[in-house]
Amino acid sequence: MADGESVAPLVAALSLDEKVQLLTGETAWRLFGMPQIGLRSMALSDGPVGVRGTGEIPGATSLLMPSPSGLAATWNLAAARRAGVMFATEARRLGIDLVLAPQVNIQRTPIGGRHFECYSEDPYLTTQVAAAAVSAMQDAGVAACVKHYVANDSENYRTEYVSRVPEQALREVYMAPFEHLVTEVGVWSVMAAYNGADAGDESAPMTEHDYLVNDVLKGEWGFDGVVLSDWMATNSTIESALGGLDLIMPGPGGPWEDNLLQAVRRGDVPESVIDDKVVRILRLAQRTGGLGDTIPAPPRPDDAKFLRTLAAEATVVLRRGDNYIVDPAQTKSITLIGPNAVNAYVLGGGSSTVQPHYVVSPTSGLQAAFPDADITLLRGGSALVHTPAAAVQTDLTDPVTGKPGIAITELDAGGHVVASLIDAAWTGWHKGPTSDCTDVVLEADLALREAGDHRIDVGVVGAHRILINGVVVSESDVEVNASAILDSSANSPLGAGLTVTTDAPRTVRIRVELKTVDAGGYGRWVRADFRHARPGPSIEDEIREAVDTARDADVVVMVVGTNSEVESEGWDRIGLALPGRQDELVRRVLEVAPDAIVVVNAGAPVLLPWLDEAKTVLWSWFPGQECGNAIADVITGKTEAAGRLPWTLPASEADVPIMDTAPDADMVLNYPEGVHVGYREWERTENVPAAPFGHGLGWTDFEYGPEATASVASDGTVAVSITVTNTGSRDGAEVVQAYIEAPSPSPAGIERPIRWLGGFERLRVGAGKLETVTVHLPRRVFEVWDTTSHAWALPGGEYVIALGRSVRDLRTRAVINLPFPGDTAPAVSDIPREASAPSQAAPST
Ligand code: BGC
Repeated sequence: MADGESVAPLVAALSLDEKVQLLTGETAWRLFGMPQIGLRSMALSDGPVGVRGTGEIPGATSLLMPSPSGLAATWNLAAARRAGVMFATEARRLGIDLVLAPQVNIQRTPIGGRHFECYSEDPYLTTQVAAAAVSAMQDAGVAACVKHYVANDSENYRTEYVSRVPEQALREVYMAPFEHLVTEVGVWSVMAAYNGADAGDESAPMTEHDYLVNDVLKGEWGFDGVVLSDWMATNSTIESALGGLDLIMPGPGGPWEDNLLQAVRRGDVPESVIDDKVVRILRLAQRTGGLGDTIPAPPRPDDAKFLRTLAAEATVVLRRGDNYIVDPAQTKSITLIGPNAVNAYVLGGGSSTVQPHYVVSPTSGLQAAFPDADITLLRGGSALVHTPAAAVQTDLTDPVTGKPGIAITELDAGGHVVASLIDAAWTGWHKGPTSDCTDVVLEADLALREAGDHRIDVGVVGAHRILINGVVVSESDVEVNASAILDSSANSPLGAGLTVTTDAPRTVRIRVELKTVDAGGYGRWVRADFRHARPGPSIEDEIREAVDTARDADVVVMVVGTNSEVESEGWDRIGLALPGRQDELVRRVLEVAPDAIVVVNAGAPVLLPWLDEAKTVLWSWFPGQECGNAIADVITGKTEAAGRLPWTLPASEADVPIMDTAPDADMVLNYPEGVHVGYREWERTENVPAAPFGHGLGWTDFEYGPEATASVASDGTVAVSITVTNTGSRDGAEVVQAYIEAPSPSPAGIERPIRWLGGFERLRVGAGKLETVTVHLPRRVFEVWDTTSHAWALPGGEYVIALGRSVRDLRTRAVINLPFPGDTAPAVSDIPREASAPSQAAPST
């Protein structure tokens, strides 16, 4: 059945039971098939950094790309399209019809746990990158699911808070990427977020938000795809069914299934509402080949090469020494230092995780690029907060049988054993024990194989008692709800433990008693992480050894950064400092090796208090599978590190606009900054960041101007042209950024940032060459959301378009009057106009 053909006859062929069955996932990653109407089971996979698959193919691995902010840092829409093609080919290879990406929430605060999964703190850049990726993916017949609708911009209490965003900011900043993806790109699915939102006189969870889903998304924007719930996000039957949600994920279980069937039979939910949801699911099938059409697999491009170039080009040069490019022929020794040099963090934590085919470590990347150099790798001290995970399969055994694994005993309320088993592949969870199981006891013997101090911890969620060798190290009778255990899916919970000193191999008995937690209709779960640190050198010893070795090396490369305990879905960061003693490590190494190249391996901003002391500092993101190759390509000059920051790098936490993501006592999360998000607030406060939005030095320099010319096309698009000259000795990439400054003062009731990104153009310019570049700024970027008429409007007047290399490095300005004569678009009749200078006022239409 071709796209566009009505699926109504298929809906009519299904019974009510079958239709309702279609509306909850068959499994966590599959929808039900209905062979009687030719519908096969469609498969879903997480997505922003790669396509993980459904888990049904044992041992399946995937391509792993740089974190989405890294993709945005290229400001390269061709690369974003190429990434979309890669997602499609991966999806088809793994039998996936719908990829749960991209994530277009806004980086409202650098502490946001999923900051790395988002593109930018700017809505325009976010929109452009997402649009390129989604259209390429869907052109190849694979559905994108844009998420998380809406105002899901921080992680703490994410299943409980209600975002209260001023209407203008909600539309212009947070909803804008979703609007564009629906109205201009035609995205096929949207994920309703965990949080609630206050909007349109309604305060409701996003899985039941009649105004934002039915009225705006499906009504005003005309969305004809599927609205699916975030995983276990839905807590109601009737409200969510009537509120526009089409599909509950995951399944089986959750609040629909039989409850929804009964609600329809009772007349609480009209069958027409069910039919509309089924139509949308069948339309999704029609688009992705789920109704039997053959979707040709796109040609398989050279993905590894693409990912290698992408990771290198995304790298942002924060500081550039006289010559940070190192000649392999001249290099006999490299000292590679840092916790992230030993264990590079190539992807962030949480549901975006994929199992990569391989990861090129910094050592192997550099060794391949510097075949004649001796590379010495030194950690310089662990930067982990938690004790490392215990080796369950080799070091933990059932105390009774001695078999590998953890003994699990399920108990009912009377303390009777209802089940017992051994889990040799413990992943931190025991999910879905029998419904009468109220308590679970986990027991294991941990082997301590070496003499010395062993640290043993267990991290748990909810009411518990932890005993190590019979000693109670932690106990609590505070019971928790479904969201607490769900949120711990990405967040290794806090733990308690003790240090055991031994002079001979021995075992230690660990016993964990846990109250089970009702996981919102998905069974009763318990959560426990077993951790064990073996005896080893102190952090001070490791730093000292790194400094001593760095002193004599030809080249010193440091890789410092965050890790899975710091940047992850599930919780927000508590601060912006690099974890552990990494700042001290960098400073002490720089004292003896001032030319050392420092690579920052992090997704979201971290403070770099030594930034001005280092000659060369490169921001390498979570670079994905090609990590080491990308670092080597940048350092050897094979690929230009041409990235530009898609967010602001603060110099101090005190300057950061939003550092607190805690909702108030009523669980309301206020957005008092309104439209002044990210760099827009920095422009207002005039605080000086460590590096501004848009910054990136690349490997050459550019001159602009002196003149820029601007013109307006009949569709309202403004074109601004400028010449840029590459004044360096290498061919290089430039990103010409166009920031808009509105007529001042703004019309009453309208908030306008000091300046905001309205367009950009990336180009390559030969050494010594001059190019003319034209940046196009669509009409929408000049418009405001008028909260009186609840509509888009264009305040008239003289707009300045400032062109430059970052928001704080503006080189040339052009001026344009809007609306221009002959513009027939609606005037801003509802906006009081006293603010506009009379000569610049819009002609009334
Ligand atoms: C995340 C989603 C993700 C889903 C499935 C949720 O916890 O918020 O982004 O797609 O899990 O893994």
